[in-house]
Amino acid sequence: TNHLTHALRQSSIGREDAVFAQLPDGGTVTFGSLFQGAEQMAAALVALGVLPGDRVAVQVSKTIEAIQLYLGTVMAGGIFLPLNTAYTAAEIAYFIGDATPRVVVCDPRRLDETKSVSGDAKVMTLDATGHGTLRELADVQTGFDPAPREAGDLAAILYTSGTTGRSKGAMLSHANLASNSRVLRDHWRFTADDVLIHALPIFHTHGLFVATNVALLAGCQVVFLPGFDPEAILQAMPTSTALMGVPTFYTRLLADDRLTRERAGNMRLFVSGSAPLLVDTHEQWESRTGHRILERYGMTETNMNTSNPYEGERRAGTVGFALPGVEVRITDNGTEVAPGEIGVLEVRGPNVFQGYWQMPEKTAEELRPDGWFITGDLARQDADGYYVIVGRQKDLVITGGFNVYPKEIESLIDDMPGVLESAVIGVPHPDFGEAVVAVVVPEKAGLEPDSIAKALSTVLAKFKQPKKVLVVDELPRNTMGKVQKKALREEYAGLFK
Ligand code: ATP
Ligand code: MG
Repeated sequence: TNHLTHALRQSSIGREDAVFAQLPDGGTVTFGSLFQGAEQMAAALVALGVLPGDRVAVQVSKTIEAIQLYLGTVMAGGIFLPLNTAYTAAEIAYFIGDATPRVVVCDPRRLDETKSVSGDAKVMTLDATGHGTLRELADVQTGFDPAPREAGDLAAILYTSGTTGRSKGAMLSHANLASNSRVLRDHWRFTADDVLIHALPIFHTHGLFVATNVALLAGCQVVFLPGFDPEAILQAMPTSTALMGVPTFYTRLLADDRLTRERAGNMRLFVSGSAPLLVDTHEQWESRTGHRILERYGMTETNMNTSNPYEGERRAGTVGFALPGVEVRITDNGTEVAPGEIGVLEVRGPNVFQGYWQMPEKTAEELRPDGWFITGDLARQDADGYYVIVGRQKDLVITGGFNVYPKEIESLIDDMPGVLESAVIGVPHPDFGEAVVAVVVPEKAGLEPDSIAKALSTVLAKFKQPKKVLVVDELPRNTMGKVQKKALREEYAGLFK
């Protein structure tokens, strides 16, 4: 069998006429037609020369056809390689050069520029309505017998978000994906009765592997939205049961008066991840809707590692406990730290990836021979064992020889009146090596940097106090809502020179 797609198909066998997706135009897609289209995609890819192990690079809008292309690639024995739709041709050139795909699928409007960077790959198109040369080729195909693929064969190469440096291609096996989706389905109690609002992009692990795979494994419905649209989400809420989002989904929905307890009355679960959820957002959400958001923690290389409990306390500011079958430890140079201390979070389990594509040295640096993956995130456990992500190792500020954890300072600033959010970074400083700088977004105009600096001076040790507080309109974020601290560090690199 084809390990992953076999697993994803089980829940819909015998109920092919059940609805998988509700589309924005009011139409629906059944499980039967989803998989039939996926088989046609697989046959089309094989007709284009795709052999087991070949990469299929895809930079297209979010459509059902794009989901079928994902499933079809895996059915054909290929390796699915989705790319952020925001990437320019120059950026795509790196991924294509790195992954040497057999086929590249792009939006027809970008055909020429994509061709110019695609080398020997066949370039096909798929547009935002699901039409294009690939779809035409798929339409004339009949059934397809999925290529046999084992648990350990690769199903996808997913590039990391590039928050801390150049994106790395994480090699994910069939079993990596199938095992994690099963764990999540069970842990979050997904069944065929659920209706999941699917508003996340499908070029990232959150929307593709968490949302899509969990829905398929559970055999539930999705409200399939092409992007984040608060209007559409609010409209879907009364007849849906679950939402998976990044923190910005929640803050933007909170800004809409139509978000009420009544509107969320049919919902049973709100999941957040991909970036830290502010405690304040968690609390506001509960008071507005009566629901406590379930925060979980994961990454491209491992899918999901920890989650707050479904039953039991969902603790704001934490990412809960290790998922079943996943081991988590907090270390200092490979040795576990004392309980409560901050260290590097490491993960081991069936979800952990097979290494970085064509980066054996990087793989050896981050993946220990005994299976532990060094995530690069700093974390601690609270008194009850909940994991708290403190930030990234690369964002740690070392000033005058002292470690400063940005999160500690950010939490204090975020709690001050008139502050919406903040980012604390380290920038080069002639005396201290690095200096702590706070970049603050006010709730409304009139916030004084001096008042923040002054308030911090009474609660923080001198070395942790920002050498400079800057008030800005907004923080730079990528499409997953992650604050781009690298961009901030570059912008303010000259502050003390
Ligand atoms: P790159 O590895 O290229 O620098 P990236 O790490 O942002 O980019 P992803 O794999 O998309 O790429 O993101 C995983 C990271 O997102 C985690 O390592 C962690 O830092 C952060 N993250 C995910 N979920 C949470 C969460 N609930 N709270 C805090 N951070 C989170
Ligand atoms: Mg990362």
